[in-house]
Amino acid sequence: MRVLVTNDDGYLAPGVRTLAAAARRLGTVHVVAPDREQSATSHSLTLHHPLRVRDAGFGLVVDGTPTDCVVLALGELLPERPDLVLSGVNHGANLGDDVLYSGTVAAAMEATILGLPAVAISLAGRDAATVVPEWEETVGRLLERLVGERQFPTETLLNVNLPPVPPAQVKGVRVTTLGRRAYMGSLTRALDPNGREYFWIGGGESRWWGGPDSDFRAVSEGYISVTPLHLDLTNHRLLEEVSGWDLTL
Ligand code: MN
Repeated sequence: MRVLVTNDDGYLAPGVRTLAAAARRLGTVHVVAPDREQSATSHSLTLHHPLRVRDAGFGLVVDGTPTDCVVLALGELLPERPDLVLSGVNHGANLGDDVLYSGTVAAAMEATILGLPAVAISLAGRDAATVVPEWEETVGRLLERLVGERQFPTETLLNVNLPPVPPAQVKGVRVTTLGRRAYMGSLTRALDPNGREYFWIGGGESRWWGGPDSDFRAVSEGYISVTPLHLDLTNHRLLEEVSGWDLTL
């Protein structure tokens, strides 16, 4: 099996090294990753400047987004089309609404759009970057379970979140739905040293909610969460109701 590995934390991130090492038990691994932090860049493509690629030894490095990396890897950079695309291991959870902002999940989505099986993997917890190497063995075994033994579902990606506990303390794997999250106090308005106003998005506290089968609940209870995602955002339940609206112009 040929595996493409990418991420959104940049090629120097411990998480992408861990994922590449774990993926070697599946076959040949090619790494094509951003040259810097690209977290929360979502599914953006770079259209307004040329992209440069260099060989960093460990893999190819692109001065673009995670989606750019997948597009370039599949379109030009890899000698053959891969059988599987893996994104991560992200330093921090990608649960619930996070999947709409995450570059890690977007890279897997891009692979899904291009017709390939894809898995996004994230490690919850503030010290994820420090402890992620401990997860190599567990992630490797999980990947074998997810992609090694069966036909991968079409037009679907798997969003995996690892709980913030040592791998030996994981209680198991749960298949989950996306939860919901609200941030509080995550927008700062302040003055810079020159007295000019600035705004900064980030930080603050987050509050989670969702059903007993939701992803954040599984992770908070010490389980690995696996959420199958598809890219059809249509609200099928509302089609009939909206069709009943008078939209005559
Ligand atoms: Mn990230």
